[in-house]
Amino acid sequence: MNTSTQLIPTTLPLQDRSLLRDACYINGQWVKANSGAMQSIHNPATHELVGRVPICGEIETRDAIQSAHLAMQEWSAGTAAERAKVLRRWYELMLENMNDLAVILTSEQGKPIIEARSEVKYGASFIEWFGEEAKRMYGDVIPTHMKDRRLIVLRQPVGVVAAITPWNFPIAMITRKCAPALAAGCSMVCKPSPETPLSALALAELAHRAGVPPGVFNVVTGDAIKIGGEMTRNELVRKLSFTGSTRTGVLLATQCAATLKKVSLELGGNAPFIVFDDADIDAAIAGAIISKFRNSGQTCVCTNRFLVQAGIHDTFVEKLSHAVVKLKVGNGMLEDTIQGPLINQHAVEKVEAHIADALKQGARIITGGKRHSLGGTYFEPTVIKDVTSAMRMAREETFGPVAPIFKFSTEAEALQMANATEFGLAAYVYTKDMGRAWRVTEQIETGMVGINVGLISTEIAPFGGIKMSGIGREGSKYGLDDYTELKYMCMGLS
Ligand code: ADP
Repeated sequence: MNTSTQLIPTTLPLQDRSLLRDACYINGQWVKANSGAMQSIHNPATHELVGRVPICGEIETRDAIQSAHLAMQEWSAGTAAERAKVLRRWYELMLENMNDLAVILTSEQGKPIIEARSEVKYGASFIEWFGEEAKRMYGDVIPTHMKDRRLIVLRQPVGVVAAITPWNFPIAMITRKCAPALAAGCSMVCKPSPETPLSALALAELAHRAGVPPGVFNVVTGDAIKIGGEMTRNELVRKLSFTGSTRTGVLLATQCAATLKKVSLELGGNAPFIVFDDADIDAAIAGAIISKFRNSGQTCVCTNRFLVQAGIHDTFVEKLSHAVVKLKVGNGMLEDTIQGPLINQHAVEKVEAHIADALKQGARIITGGKRHSLGGTYFEPTVIKDVTSAMRMAREETFGPVAPIFKFSTEAEALQMANATEFGLAAYVYTKDMGRAWRVTEQIETGMVGINVGLISTEIAPFGGIKMSGIGREGSKYGLDDYTELKYMCMGLS
């Protein structure tokens, strides 16, 4: 392996430039690709070079897995309190370096710096939470069925974990996986998105400083297919945790089948946002803005469809449009930016294609609808009405700043429309009727429901989906389950 500690020359306003790395982190070392190949990372707002990372493949991934396997023996043999102490330090270091982490994140991802700081705090919260939760990884004693037997259930770490993460939350999607994994006594090899590897490497630098032992947390950047291929083939890896598209999730789960790995998948969504006539409309507008336009509409729990009851429909459209035109579009590094650029041209083209398809079939744009005058990958925050189930945006995740509005008449119709999708991640419901809130929650086919709120993610609650939106839950006391196995011990007393 080539090792390197060389830093990239940068104009980023960082207090601590050693957070910006140009090498992978394997077995506690900064490592270049065997081939020497490097990939450039560009700022989606300015197209400036932000950094470079190695293009690694199978060999480097195998090295990382091997080191994770060896390191796990000592890491898992320690006490929960010992692991918690290291995780606590990592958490503190993230908060101490919040601004620098946010600058790196915004520079490679584009989201407004205010959102980037929130993501750092949110990402760090998983490390704090699971460090504490490690101490509560209880087993069980089962009341015996025979006088001379005692039945005990142990919870043990599942083994080496491979994590593959997306670009929309370059920090939080990693900590949501590595925090429970490390808390449970597992080790991890992480492959960040090729769009946003610098945040992952900055996290690794802080893990190093926090005292995470060499090999316990590794970051390998590079060729997704080669790295993913090795991760899913390698028998030392006992679990894959993936966040990304449904297409890739299904592919990786299939690849994991041959070695029967435990799999957690957090995949695409098609979140309905249902507004009933009895809703507090201003609260619904505030919830709509946060659930739709956060990260320029590029989150898996972003509202994809607004279903609005006929009696309140026109008022909702008008008020939402007024709120949307006020959203300030610009470079995420500016403090007053509310909406940054989209991640790349492909994302812009998908948004355009969805809008064109809707317009062709009779939908009408109320505001926005085209590329922003700032150019690049900026897109105007858009509201579009008269959208129907025949249109692409009813079925596919648009993943951009477009609010399509559908009209419905009855509660039954709203539920039917909400559930008419292969996805089942998040749903939002606005109503003042308690009975309706319960009925809809129980019948809606999603893993998460926000009642009169548009933002539901927190480290203390189980995040995840059903149907084609995934398998498993991240965060909360349930989040440890995916990183542990149960071992049943039957003890004979005679
Ligand atoms: P998106 O289209 O939103 O980028 P993807 O599911 O393609 O979503 O990407 C999510 C993550 O999965 C990224 O880290 C990406 O590099 C990775 N990925 C994509 N395809 C593969 C693959 N065939 N094997 C392993 N990882 C992959």
